[in-house]
Amino acid sequence: MGRKLSVPEPNIDELCQRYMDGWSSLKLAKYYGISKPTVLRRLRITGIKRRDIRVRGSMHPNWITGKIINKDGYVKLNVGGGKRVFEHKLIMEKHLGRKLIKPEEIHHINGDKQDNVIENLELCKDRADHKRKHQQYNWSTNYLCCQRCKKTEIKHEAHGLCINCYQWIRYKGDRADG
Ligand SMILES: [Zn+2]
Ligand SMILES: [Zn+2]
Repeated sequence: MGRKLSVPEPNIDELCQRYMDGWSSLKLAKYYGISKPTVLRRLRITGIKRRDIRVRGSMHPNWITGKIINKDGYVKLNVGGGKRVFEHKLIMEKHLGRKLIKPEEIHHINGDKQDNVIENLELCKDRADHKRKHQQYNWSTNYLCCQRCKKTEIKHEAHGLCINCYQWIRYKGDRADG
């Protein structure tokens, strides 16, 4: 109470930001004149998991646990300082080794906006390019996959059915084996 420290009490956002910038908990402890367990406790309060020493900063898969899903179904991450960023953008930027440039967009190949592994992400140079990707990947205009077998490997025939399933449904009435 009223105790003056040589270094001010760490602002928790600032502490988190430094941690995510790659500062070790020991370095933070020394910098703020507090113990390492105190640093770790503060990081834990904000939901940041302790970083694996071998994997630096934001490259670590567990560096943040503060995930939210926004109203459009995208994953946003808490990056400290009250800032949230889109997970898919962050992952793409890491993959590219640069920031995204204005008209660029990211496409989720399997259509799942929350599946942000790099294999599921594709960089589009602008909105038109992104639209094209949707047309290219959508199995048919109105269906993502065959409504019966759930596959996309076989060509769409009609009514959301692949050739095989369409034939099956069409002729099953005539066949004893169904
Ligand atoms: Zn897309
Ligand atoms: Zn089918």
